Amino acid sequence: MKYFIANWKMYLGLAEARALAEVARAAHSEENTQVVVCPSFAHIDAVGGVVRGSAAALGAQDAYFEPSGAYTSAVGIEQLKELGVSYVLVGHSERRHYFGETDDVVNKKVKAAYAAGIQPIICVGETEQERSAGQTKSRVSAQVHAALQGVSVKKVIIAYEPVWAIGAGKTPSVEDAQSVHRMIKQIVKETQGAECSVLYGGSVTQDNLQAFWNTPDIDGVLVGGASAHKKTLISLLALLSH
Ligand code: PEP
Repeated sequence: MKYFIANWKMYLGLAEARALAEVARAAHSEENTQVVVCPSFAHIDAVGGVVRGSAAALGAQDAYFEPSGAYTSAVGIEQLKELGVSYVLVGHSERRHYFGETDDVVNKKVKAAYAAGIQPIICVGETEQERSAGQTKSRVSAQVHAALQGVSVKKVIIAYEPVWAIGAGKTPSVEDAQSVHRMIKQIVKETQGAECSVLYGGSVTQDNLQAFWNTPDIDGVLVGGASAHKKTLISLLALLSH
């Protein structure tokens, strides 16, 4: 199975989110390809209503790990499940950077998602500084180990998203990404013995999608900016069948 995950971040208004959901709903569904749209919490219900019954699945950009309680503004996994969410991004670099999400919190969210029967998409990636210091693999390895600490599951999805590539218009070479993906798969094999899909994320566009998509060990893509415009989303989805 290959995955195309659209992360619309906080980019859209309701009408735009609905329009993009219509695009995902209408997309030709390739066998062995799963399209997942991740709107902001404010639009989950509306977007869910549009994609329901289609081949596209509904994802959330985050979820809190506690099952319920006095956690003002938090959104729980069971609440998302009620709205038809079947995937959740966990540990996105923007969550880590702007909201202080630690490896420990990421691990709690991963556990909560699995406990609720929602597939987490665990986001990992090194910063520019870590990359320059030659610490890409050690940082990513530490994040993967921390996220899966105490977890024993059958299916793991990890998105390798170098922080320096997100929204920056630059990407690692396909070979460099592939090498990190191989390492992640090895870690998951050793620690979980689980099936593992590793997606690439960071400045994916119509120009580079196929290079990543068609490379062994790259099991799909997580796309932010380019998935949040109707024209580019249509082009990206059309490329999945080539
Ligand atoms: C992301 O938000 O996960 C992402 C990869 O963003 P962008 O495609 O805009 O770099």
